[in-house]
Amino acid sequence: MDLTDEGIPASLEDQIQRMRERADRLGWDVWKVIMNPRLSAYKRRKITLPDGRREYRVFRPDLREAMADLWASRANALLCLDLDRAFRDPQDLRDLIDVVEHAPHSVVVESCTDSLHMEKGKDNFDAEIRVLVANKSSRDTARRVSMARERQARNGQFGGGRRPFGFCLGAPEVPSGTMPDEIVCPWHGGRDCRSGISTIDFETDVIEDCSHRLLQGVSLRSLAAELREGVVPTVTGAPWSAETLRDILLRPRNGGFMVHKGEILEGVTAPWEPIVKPEVFFAVRELLTDPDRRSGPGAAPRWHGSGIYRCGICTPLGTVTGKPTTCEVTGGSQRQRRYRCKDKNHLTRNAAHVDNAVFAHVLYALTHPRAYELLSAPAPDVDADGLRAERKAIRNRLDLMAEDEVLGLKTRAQVIAATKKGNARIAEIDELLNATVTSDPLAAVINAPDPVAAWDALELADQRLFIDRLCTVTILPSGRKGRGFDPTTLDIAPKHGFGRGGLPAAA
Ligand SMILES: [Zn+2]
Ligand SMILES: [Zn+2]
Repeated sequence: MDLTDEGIPASLEDQIQRMRERADRLGWDVWKVIMNPRLSAYKRRKITLPDGRREYRVFRPDLREAMADLWASRANALLCLDLDRAFRDPQDLRDLIDVVEHAPHSVVVESCTDSLHMEKGKDNFDAEIRVLVANKSSRDTARRVSMARERQARNGQFGGGRRPFGFCLGAPEVPSGTMPDEIVCPWHGGRDCRSGISTIDFETDVIEDCSHRLLQGVSLRSLAAELREGVVPTVTGAPWSAETLRDILLRPRNGGFMVHKGEILEGVTAPWEPIVKPEVFFAVRELLTDPDRRSGPGAAPRWHGSGIYRCGICTPLGTVTGKPTTCEVTGGSQRQRRYRCKDKNHLTRNAAHVDNAVFAHVLYALTHPRAYELLSAPAPDVDADGLRAERKAIRNRLDLMAEDEVLGLKTRAQVIAATKKGNARIAEIDELLNATVTSDPLAAVINAPDPVAAWDALELADQRLFIDRLCTVTILPSGRKGRGFDPTTLDIAPKHGFGRGGLPAAA
């Protein structure tokens, strides 16, 4: 059996096996096995004791079940693995002592590690003292572990647990009877790596790429959908989800920060190269943790125009105000696939034909001799630290105002007005900060030796960004019921100064 330092079997099955063997030796019949559920730390509930009293206790359904069985004489003995494991709270033990001493029949309590023995008429005070001591020592152990973790964090070591995505676990331990040279890090092939410190290039590439593209406007779920199709697996091997990716992108270690108890350790430099610049990490964190910006649940868009192309009946050409009504995709096979008004069943169009016309316009703009004019102005030279401090100060002041409102020092209207102004300034600051950390996604394509090939190589989510950036596509009602596609029933209005590129202007 795989035993821990305290001589307790590591796996649940082994634990049960060991208890059955002990019961055998004691000559007991096992009537019921009660498994200890995962305890939510110190959650107190009002419970009914065997004698009917109602008291607050740390909720332990396993112990309550055992005590109820003993009190009702359904069972007359209880076997625990270990005193320390069975009783974290001395009150629980006192309750059990009450059952042992006051039950109308004999009750015996035993443990596999001999740390606990109780029976009626015997002085059970000893057990009570042991629980108190065990509690104290388990608190001391917890404190020692926590201090060791902090020391490790300060020294740049990884605090244990599952491997963080982007970092290897170091070379495995060498089993006896094997040559150390044969036992190498599965990622790096040597024995020099350090757990949680040595980076894995293809994984850090994912972190870097997703951090930047998130800031450029690609949604978390589109990025996760791409990763699901890709070759880089998650740490557990489970399929990529938006949540998994979010957790990874929120890790301060990406920006080269060390963390202890959820706090970035100021002035501690991580022993690895930051995967993204600190500004990028902070921008990603702000984006992912800002409740106003979180996009709703749902699948990643799988088509170029869904949610982008407009329905020309609900949103006629020339509409400038309000939220446009867009199209979704219906139809199974490639040839039958159609864009359809999201709201009403009054407009559909062959998807492949519409997309081809839109792609032609996008490529017209991307390959235009003055395509460089499409690129946004170079990032302004801003004082990022100053802006972040200002952002924090505004948030603090808004919190204080909310307190003032509770105290009656400010009216609700005053607080609402101030919150509106404060949030507007925060949005401005975010924009400035993001401009300094993201490069324009268009630049990579426009500056590529072959922009058409670069466009073709883009992921769907990025192509959607390009389409939305370069033109407004409106699917117009079509008068005739022919089979062919009529290009004049599609309006592609440029959002740039190069004109329509020979496409007909819709009537
Ligand atoms: Zn390694
Ligand atoms: Zn419509």
